[in-house]
Amino acid sequence: MENCYLILLGAGPGDPDLIIVKGVKALEKAEVVLYDTLSHPDLLDYAPADAEKIYVGKKAGSCQNSQQSINDLIVQKAREGNYIVRLKGGDPFVFGRGHEELTHARAHDIPVEVIPGISSCTSIGELQTIPLTKRGINESFWVTTGVTRNGGVSEDIELAAQTTATIAILMGMRNLPKIVNIFKRYGRSTTPIAVIQRGSLPEEKIALGTIASITNEVEKKNLTNPALILIGDVVQLHPEYATWVSRKSGTTEAVME
Ligand code: SAH
Repeated sequence: MENCYLILLGAGPGDPDLIIVKGVKALEKAEVVLYDTLSHPDLLDYAPADAEKIYVGKKAGSCQNSQQSINDLIVQKAREGNYIVRLKGGDPFVFGRGHEELTHARAHDIPVEVIPGISSCTSIGELQTIPLTKRGINESFWVTTGVTRNGGVSEDIELAAQTTATIAILMGMRNLPKIVNIFKRYGRSTTPIAVIQRGSLPEEKIALGTIASITNEVEKKNLTNPALILIGDVVQLHPEYATWVSRKSGTTEAVME
């Protein structure tokens, strides 16, 4: 295993210009690039033309490319002595299973380096000028998964709903109605919420609303994964929020295209 190396690299939230410089330098040296659905295809252009570029994302309707087969592929390519860049959407250590790949590689004596990426959880709202924290509005922000291993909703969301926190929920679209119900139970029907699909990309779509109105909005705009759910009073700082939502009734007045 001479000269092999594994770089776990964050691709950023979508827009290929949102990768960090150190990541571009790693790609320029790559002999093998393993990439998946959420990393922008243009990033592959930084790798040398003769680098091997292998898609390891999920294929529709099949269990191909399980985590185990990705881990095995990393070891195989490392044994061949390659400088491997494993490109992952957002940040590799934020709901990215990056540490599982690191652990597996280290167990096979493959040197590993992690290069952070800009995570969707911190950047997608920010690109819409929604701050995660604002003095006088909230005292923390939470990042949670919207789905647990058994398909349910994490208890952390229940806890977060009882705080001033901004809550960024990843992978939460399927459970959105359940998430909304948790907030309703804590009397949060008028709390602002944004759902942003494919943020930072030209095809980005957004719905703004209150806890009471958001499922309607999401249905109207047909929003699905990958989308970020952002809940908290900071969402009303979005420049279009007032036009979208009548806070008194909690209903939507206008729909933004
Ligand atoms: N490691 C990634 C997250 C992987 S989990 C990161 O740090 O961003 C995948 C989830 O991330 C998606 O279901 C969605 O909730 C969120 N996500 C990733 N890219 C996104 C984007 N461009 N717009 C909105 N949500 C995104």
